Amino acid sequence: MKLQLFDTFERKVRPFEPLSNNHVGIYACGPTVYNFAHIGNLRTYLFEDLLVRVLKANGYDVNHVMNITDVGHLTSDADTGEDKMELGTRRTGMTAWELASFYTEAFQRDMQRLNILAPDQWCKATDHIKEQIDFVSDLEQKGYTYRTSDGIYFDSRKLNNYGHLARLDIDGLQAGARVELGERRFVTDFALWKFSPVDEERQMEWDSPWGKGFPGWHIECSAMSARYLGDFFDIHCGGEDHIPIHHTNEIAQTQASRGTQLANFWMHGYFLKTDKEKMSKSTGDFLTLDVVEEKGFAPLDYRYFCFTAHYRSQLSFSWESLASAQTALGRLYEAAWSWGEPGEIHEQFLQRFNDCLNDDLNVPRALAVVWELVKSGVPDDVKKATLLACDEVLGLDISDWQPVELRIPDEVRLLVEGREQARAEKNWQKADELRDQVIKLGFSIEDTREGAKISRS
Ligand code: AMP
Ligand code: ZN
Repeated sequence: MKLQLFDTFERKVRPFEPLSNNHVGIYACGPTVYNFAHIGNLRTYLFEDLLVRVLKANGYDVNHVMNITDVGHLTSDADTGEDKMELGTRRTGMTAWELASFYTEAFQRDMQRLNILAPDQWCKATDHIKEQIDFVSDLEQKGYTYRTSDGIYFDSRKLNNYGHLARLDIDGLQAGARVELGERRFVTDFALWKFSPVDEERQMEWDSPWGKGFPGWHIECSAMSARYLGDFFDIHCGGEDHIPIHHTNEIAQTQASRGTQLANFWMHGYFLKTDKEKMSKSTGDFLTLDVVEEKGFAPLDYRYFCFTAHYRSQLSFSWESLASAQTALGRLYEAAWSWGEPGEIHEQFLQRFNDCLNDDLNVPRALAVVWELVKSGVPDDVKKATLLACDEVLGLDISDWQPVELRIPDEVRLLVEGREQARAEKNWQKADELRDQVIKLGFSIEDTREGAKISRS
């Protein structure tokens, strides 16, 4: 089956073809780095990782760009309230720059732990202020902006199809507008550039043709995606909450300035829900990957758990369902371990697995095919080779897994290496000391012709 994907813009599943040759450009809205990512955020990045891996499995050459929002994302999507970064500085006592680098690193560590492939290009909003100012200037020249006392705004009524992505009922929105319009002319107008408050010096602010201030949240994505992927690229993705505001406004800006709808496919991952409504990074009441590990789960258990649901349906989180995922993944690891060395790939099974994923990333069905393979009468070595091929997309590290009793900690390995070295140097006393340390850690060493063999004692 050829790859087909759901496009939120068209509201349908359609065949995917790259815009140019074999090359696929993807832009994913990255984290706002004022706090740790919660496991809901991480579900969205896992969906994007699956997408990237499936594209690669289809032979495409993928260029994956992800931004880091380190300025301009206000606490209210209606462009009022505080910059989340400035708020974070007060919570932590760090400067805005320290905060950004601290939480960016924490996010990148989370991605690694979840086996999410690193994007080919990271881009920070604060590193691209000039591109954003140029973009706003262009919108100004084309007549899409107006000035209020607190910033430069996008005049959404100048575009006749504003809000198409979200199928927004514009008149209904204006009539029912509960948010204070302030000096904005229309409920869907949004900030492109905000002025620094007169009575206060912000930690992050820049000069611009309109006065000192900082960019609005949406402009960074239009400006940076254009810089790295061009004015019209293959796939833009993010979480479902981005459909009505953030992505709607990215499209409006790019349409007004460049005349394109920004991306050929718009894809959205649906939310992870907890018992208490949705997870919210801003209320501080959320689960992180660290908490998941503290409770005795591996990050890859969470990866497996996310793959039990389709990305276009919401997923309810509970510790019980995470435990079921852990059990299932443990069984898969043990089965694969017991099969020994891989042989030939079972092409039909692999084809069925890929067909599920090519059908709009139906990973729950792909996992069902994996389990069918596990339970089948296919020879073990063929099962092993096929499962390892599937794991290129699943990213569950199946080939690395070993039963606990065979796992040798790095510390022990280093001691044994040191002992080998000491023996080579005929330093028998040091070699014996190192051996004693290894024994104290619960391991024994047997000297064989192939070198030292370590086992649990
Ligand atoms: P943020 O760091 O708040 O800008 O969000 C990062 C990403 O996580 C965005 O793509 C959001 O759409 C997504 N997101 C936020 N909350 C959730 C949730 N509960 N489940 C899944 N994705 C989410
Ligand atoms: Zn964005």
